[in-house]
Amino acid sequence: MTLISFSACAQSPTKQKKDTLMEKKNPYYNPNRKEAVVVADEVWKTILSPEIYQIARQKGTERPFTSEFEHSKEVGTFHCAVCGNPLFKSNAKYESGCGWPSFFEPISKESIIYLPDNTHGMVRTEVECGKCKAHLGHVFEDGPKPTGLRYCINGVVLTLEK
Ligand SMILES: [Zn+2]
Repeated sequence: MTLISFSACAQSPTKQKKDTLMEKKNPYYNPNRKEAVVVADEVWKTILSPEIYQIARQKGTERPFTSEFEHSKEVGTFHCAVCGNPLFKSNAKYESGCGWPSFFEPISKESIIYLPDNTHGMVRTEVECGKCKAHLGHVFEDGPKPTGLRYCINGVVLTLEK
């Protein structure tokens, strides 16, 4: 008789892989740096994740109701996912129901750049990051008091620092 020992593979194949945030590998992501970040799109393409690149640099739009930040109640500061610029405080966030994270005011005047956007047969105001000019979303005048503004922002281009 031969004793056979079964050494079954006990390791779970669904071992949790820790999320590696793209912006951590991004040398331009620095919340403490105030100077403008000017980097060519070809360079951004090699640094940013495809999702961030498509929205931030190509003015794309994430699918509505897909952002983890839309209903997030976490307290902290939302930064630009491209350069780390502080953009919105969590206490300026509200549930607009529009499908994207919404805020009624930015953290400061300088944090945001406003540009007219007449594409897609609409007259809108595009908002970009004041430091790296990443496309963030649009601002509309149907927000709550005190500003009456709704900053409708793609969650993909935000990071929450708690
Ligand atoms: Zn930025």
